[in-house]
Amino acid sequence: MLKAVAFAADKHRFQTRKDSERTPYINHPIKVALTLCEIGNESDTDLLVAAILHDTVEDTETSPEEIETHFGKGVRDIVMEVTDDKNLAKEERKRLQIVKAHLKSRPARKLKLADKICNVHDVIHHAPSGWNVDRRLAYLNWCEQVLEGLRGVNHLLEKHLLESIAEGKNVLTAESSQHVA
Ligand code: ZN
Repeated sequence: MLKAVAFAADKHRFQTRKDSERTPYINHPIKVALTLCEIGNESDTDLLVAAILHDTVEDTETSPEEIETHFGKGVRDIVMEVTDDKNLAKEERKRLQIVKAHLKSRPARKLKLADKICNVHDVIHHAPSGWNVDRRLAYLNWCEQVLEGLRGVNHLLEKHLLESIAEGKNVLTAESSQHVA
């Protein structure tokens, strides 16, 4: 587990999140792993290690083989299931997340739930700079559609994500009506 944290921290070392505070990228995978433990009550080591590594192949120079060499095939398989194909256009990647969510393995769906919980939290409380309310609401609606395919693997994570999306919609709708007024 600590080896994974060190590996991911090294791979993401020049990256920041898209928020205005420019949070170091590594904060995100650590939070996703913590969400699986603390909210989802998950303790499987392969799952938690995959959570720490979940964005390395998609967003850094990391190969699936490298993950397998250091962390085993189980971890590699989970990471690859949650890795989008960057050769596809962004809209297509987002569409595929909706239609393919239900086809993923149970660990991959748990990881996706935790990832969405963290991203929804960020979009509500630490929005990427330049994202207006409409774009943030559109993101929440998209997450809600992905969630439909992720159901049935962890009730606690599912419930938390649903509540976060609902809370986000309330907060953002209130914000947007303030702007209109
Ligand atoms: Zn992520």
